[in-house]
Amino acid sequence: MQFFQARNVMEAVERAGPGSYFLAGGTDLALQLREGKVKPQVLVDLSRVAELKTLNASGGCLEIGSMMTFAELGSSELVRTKANALWLACQSMGSPQIRNQATIGGNLGNCSPAADGLPPLLALGAEVRLVSRRGEETVSLAELLKRRPLLQEGTLIKGFLIPDQGWKSGFAKLGRRRALAIARLSLGIAVKSEGSRAKKIRVALGAVGERAFLSEALAEMLEEREMDETWLEAAAAGAQQVVASALGSRASAPYKQAAVAGVMREALASLAGGEELNGG
Ligand SMILES: Cc1cc2nc3c(=O)[nH]c(=O)nc-3n(C[C@H](O)[C@H](O)[C@H](O)COP(=O)(O)OP(=O)(O)OC[C@H]3O[C@@H](n4cnc5c(N)ncnc54)[C@H](O)[C@@H]3O)c2cc1C
Repeated sequence: MQFFQARNVMEAVERAGPGSYFLAGGTDLALQLREGKVKPQVLVDLSRVAELKTLNASGGCLEIGSMMTFAELGSSELVRTKANALWLACQSMGSPQIRNQATIGGNLGNCSPAADGLPPLLALGAEVRLVSRRGEETVSLAELLKRRPLLQEGTLIKGFLIPDQGWKSGFAKLGRRRALAIARLSLGIAVKSEGSRAKKIRVALGAVGERAFLSEALAEMLEEREMDETWLEAAAAGAQQVVASALGSRASAPYKQAAVAGVMREALASLAGGEELNGG
């Protein structure tokens, strides 16, 4: 196996040929290598690529480079105010050691059903910037997650764009233990409201299927309504229906169906953010 340390994006994609893997924080990949689940011909290390380690707000978007770690995102005031759901997910992901290593790009690259970064990014309406020898592409995360395979060979996740449209967002998850927990159920939600009325909603669920997904049914059910106690009940009951239909007769279905009501309430209670980017 060859090891190549890229210094910039161009070099990284040039070296990413057949049988190559990008190496980010290595928290997933190191395990897979050790267990022989992947056998790369070339490992393209991204740790020195400064272009991928960026976080800034400009042009009405929060832009996050794929090599930003969960610890970095979870300690950023910019992320807390502009992308609260993601910020919350960063607080409870893994352990402090894992958060220091694990990157948001690797979270998508590995794309486990329980990836903590994906429901918040979906709820926030994130777009993903991809680069390969074939060129650059920006695609919504919701669309990307429908692709099989997720990424064409040699495609690098450059970063994420989160539009600043003044939405509040929240996140909650149910894990085995408080720390070190791979989410057994997670939920990201974003709400664009006018006073106490919900105008637009995005709800994303994780660990209730092969990949995280946005629920259009839940959004339709909850949009254009007063956010009162009846609405909260509808949100909890609606989430239960979505989980029931996504999991069908799987063994975990009854447990997750019951649990999601509380996870939805917790996510709604955590809604915050949505300040104008220009406001700081
Ligand atoms: C003890 C432990 C606890 C964990 N807890 C959690 C948890 O609570 N929640 C959670 O979501 N995850 C958890 N994980 C899983 C893991 O930490 C995350 O998925 C993490 O975000 C992976 O990022 P990484 O930088 O380590 O990726 P790597 O391991 O370096 O890469 C993962 C995959 O993505 C590909 N990849 C990486 N970067 C890119 C890129 N820029 N472009 C294209 N492909 C890329 C790699 O080739 C590889 O296939 C845990 C892991 C461990 C070991």
